[in-house]
Amino acid sequence: MKTYTDSLCVTFADVESAAKQIEGVAHRTPSRTSRTFDELTGCTAYFKCENFQRIGAFKFRGAYNALSRLREEQRARGVLTFSSGNHAQAIALAGKLLGIQTTIVMPSTAPRVKLAATRGYGAEVIEYEISEIAREELGAKLAAERGLTVIPPFDHPHIIAGQGTAVKELIEDVGPLDLLVVPTGGAGLLAGSALAAKAMCPACEVVGVEPEAGDDLCQSFAEGRIVTIDVPDTIADGARTPRTGDHNWEILQALVDRMITAPDEALVRLMKFFAERMKMIVEPTGCLGAAAVRDGALDVEGKRVGIVLTGGNVDLMRMFELISAQESALEAAS
Ligand SMILES: *Cc1c(COP(=O)(O)O)cnc(C)c1O
Repeated sequence: MKTYTDSLCVTFADVESAAKQIEGVAHRTPSRTSRTFDELTGCTAYFKCENFQRIGAFKFRGAYNALSRLREEQRARGVLTFSSGNHAQAIALAGKLLGIQTTIVMPSTAPRVKLAATRGYGAEVIEYEISEIAREELGAKLAAERGLTVIPPFDHPHIIAGQGTAVKELIEDVGPLDLLVVPTGGAGLLAGSALAAKAMCPACEVVGVEPEAGDDLCQSFAEGRIVTIDVPDTIADGARTPRTGDHNWEILQALVDRMITAPDEALVRLMKFFAERMKMIVEPTGCLGAAAVRDGALDVEGKRVGIVLTGGNVDLMRMFELISAQESALEAAS
């Protein structure tokens, strides 16, 4: 079992400081339980409902923490990020609240609703063709030309500290946990969550869950170095990351006990469960942790288990299509 240390590039003190920084701006989201889920799994599960966070995902925590700490001249020039997902909307909203101009580099194939929502928060959205240029390259070029500060989606100390505030709240609200299960893409959330959990309840085991197709961190743990994979094909669009970041890796190695995966089919089953039984919309990536617990990938019997539900941004028609395709396949097979 790995234990907390103060010698890391980001510490629990940074998470506590982030909590003060976002207080009254980010929502303190509810922690919920489900008797049905507990009966199905044999554990006592506490869901941290970041699907109810501003912009519909935990990303607002890190984005606001990072933007609110910029120096005056950085604020005046503005910030840039590259993302098609929740980080883009989080940066756009944080920028709007703080009066900082934001520029978001997004693929032109991103859903129109996401492009529109991001522009709606007042961000300048620059579209690019995925095939033509790497987004990091384009982002770096634009940032240099315009003097913008780049705020990446996970490899950044203020992002990591901000994301850690969700699990800090969860443990404050429900008490010590035996096990914490965290959906993982680039691992900004996992790194921050591990800092909070290991500092607040040292006996808590911390596990990250990746989509089956995007298991770069499982491979990295096995090899003891950062492994890079091709952009994974999965319905968990918040976790389509080819590799973790250097800050994240330092923290994960020190504090995360285990990485595991969950298949896309399990995410669809959990989306249906949350909608039907708990009356909540949770996006596919947000179901990774719950899917791993539900499918018996972990020994959870009799344990107090924290599960982060990371976001709720899924197109409703897409959600129904995924669920009904799965139901039809099940019927055909029976
Ligand atoms: C970004 C995101 C994740 C993954 O977070 P990382 O910090 O990249 O690991 C998980 N779920 C949702 C809904 C997200 O938006």
